[in-house]
Amino acid sequence: MKIIEYIEEDDRYKCLSCKVHLAATNCVVSKEFKGSTGTAYLIEDVINTFDGSTEERELMSGLHVVCDIFCVNCCNYVGWRYLKAYNEDQKYKEGKFILERALICKA
Ligand SMILES: [Zn+2]
Repeated sequence: MKIIEYIEEDDRYKCLSCKVHLAATNCVVSKEFKGSTGTAYLIEDVINTFDGSTEERELMSGLHVVCDIFCVNCCNYVGWRYLKAYNEDQKYKEGKFILERALICKA
């Protein structure tokens, strides 16, 4: 059984393909990130996703441990989650999420 959560605020990001709520727009930390499809947003908290496998990934800002995240409803890839950053100045990303702009839409 899928458990779908909802965001009360009117300003929120949804999964592009199934419109399930993913994040409130006021949880965006930065819009200056780059994902595999182009612009990506760093977000404090994301709901209605499940984790893919954990892996080490070399990103523009160095080596990180990440896992891809997928929409809990339609199973489409929407971004990734930072589990660990090795560089001290990248530690603020740990526990935060990336949503790819091309894979989400605004309510
Ligand atoms: Zn979806």
